[in-house]
Order: sequence, then structure tokens, then C-alpha cells
Amino acid sequence: MAYAAGLGTFGINNMLISQEGCCGRYNSIVADIPVEPGHHLEEENCLYKSRGICRKCVDNCFSGALTVEGFDREKCFAACEKNLAVYGVDVCGKCDTNIPCAFTTPGRKENVQEN
Ligand code: SF4
Ligand code: SF4
Repeated sequence: MAYAAGLGTFGINNMLISQEGCCGRYNSIVADIPVEPGHHLEEENCLYKSRGICRKCVDNCFSGALTVEGFDREKCFAACEKNLAVYGVDVCGKCDTNIPCAFTTPGRKENVQEN
């Protein structure tokens, strides 16, 4: 819904990258309020999708679940299950750690630094 409302675009790490980056959570509120419909964004916020560079999220994925070709849910789940056995929590999130889109929109023209 956040994508449909124009709050961001999806990075290759499957996260919605908004003006505040992809490290956050969305919530929904059901209401009966007349509002103007929005539209999804045209410009990509992910550096790989906009310029074919970065891939930091892919490099961070140790299990091979996340590649530029796509996302393997089974491999990701298996990695999270291993964490559950060791740490007691079935989470990972290394693909969302220390990446350029964590707190901003690196793919947008105004944020790209030309060499
Ligand atoms: S880390 Fe780079 S390639 Fe991965 S989603 Fe963010 S901007 Fe895109
Ligand atoms: S959560 Fe972990 S295993 Fe899953 S895609 Fe991200 S880095 Fe890879």
C-alpha cells in the first residue's frame, strides 16, 4: 500500500525505499475519509535499479538467498532457522545492514554523485 501511495520504490533487497530509507516499518489505518488518490513513483530509489551499481545488500547476504537475479525465500528461511537454533530468534536482516539506502534514496538523481 505504501508503494501504491507513492511513498517509495522497492530495492533489490525487497525493501521499500522511502525518502527516509528502507530501515523502518509501515502500519495501516483503515478509515472512512475522502482523500485524493496518489500514484506510485516513476523514479527508482535503489542504486542498482536506477544505475546498475551498488549491490551492497547482495554482498551482505551470506546464504545466497539474495542475488541480482532474484530472491530465494527458501534459502532465506533456512538461514533464519539456523539463527533460531543458535540465538533463539528467527531473524537475519544482514541485507539491510550498513547499506546506502538505509536512511535515504541513493538512486535518485539529486542524490547521485558523479565521478
Ligand atoms: S543496497 Fe544498493 S542495490 Fe541494495 S537495495 Fe539498497 S541501493 Fe539497491
Ligand atoms: S535476511 Fe539474511 S539470508 Fe535473508 S536475504 Fe537478507 S541477508 Fe540473506
